[in-house]
Amino acid sequence: MEILIAKSSGFCFGVKRAINIADRCSKESKNGGIYTLGPIIHNPQVVKRLEESNIFAKSSIDHIESGTVIIRSHGVKYDVINEAKAKGLNVVDATCPFVKKAQELVSHLSEEGYSVIVAGEKDHPEVKGLVSYCPTGVLVADSPDALAEMPRKKKIGIIAQTTLPVERLEDIVSFCLGKAPEIKVYNTICNATSIRQKESADLARAVDVMIVVGGSNSANTRRLADICRSIKPATYQIEVASELDSSWFNGAERVGVTSGASTPDWVISEVVEAIEALCTK
Ligand code: SF4
Repeated sequence: MEILIAKSSGFCFGVKRAINIADRCSKESKNGGIYTLGPIIHNPQVVKRLEESNIFAKSSIDHIESGTVIIRSHGVKYDVINEAKAKGLNVVDATCPFVKKAQELVSHLSEEGYSVIVAGEKDHPEVKGLVSYCPTGVLVADSPDALAEMPRKKKIGIIAQTTLPVERLEDIVSFCLGKAPEIKVYNTICNATSIRQKESADLARAVDVMIVVGGSNSANTRRLADICRSIKPATYQIEVASELDSSWFNGAERVGVTSGASTPDWVISEVVEAIEALCTK
């Protein structure tokens, strides 16, 4: 049996950068604790490893009295950094530069008087952060249906959650064409996501079984699994190697392995080794 691994699996640029920043903080910090606002990435294995380096996730600034707070790769709401500084915390901003760019563009669209639409999932922390950069109010939509009640506007400005599938942005833009004479669109979808999605879809077409590795609470991993499953129904999403089931590989000649952007290489290697072990039993 052959195991094929998607080239783009493992951490994306922004996650790698955030983890490196956290590692550096752990080595350099002398005073107080080190905290992340929410888990630095959606991967429990990485969060556990950071805890072993004395970096702990806290859900809010209110729960941090002193020390260093690391802002995770998908950013925070506009006023959180100022609140943390006002509290005397040492703020280390590990927001991915691509997310930072999207935050700036939301402000820019708002200043220019556009009715701003963020194409994305309203409960995603990155989207909550983006929304906070628009003082004039934002509509969040993950599909045209969410905009059904929107009245006509003079001009609409659209940006996207960095991990949104491009087809969803296209659907929302098409819908908005009938809602305003002027539309400005910034395609803020990160290439890392679309490349990973395309490579995983291609791989799903070429194999009998697809394994998608990533935290069960990671939205980008779930989306990747959905894309693969729509092509290859025999797609399984797991977090760690111990969740593999030998029955999934019965009769399979080729197995594809891909991962979300927050899955470390060592977890992927463990999964590949476990598949090999299961299939040679
Ligand atoms: S997916 Fe893209 S935007 Fe999001 S953290 Fe990774 S590199 Fe940055």
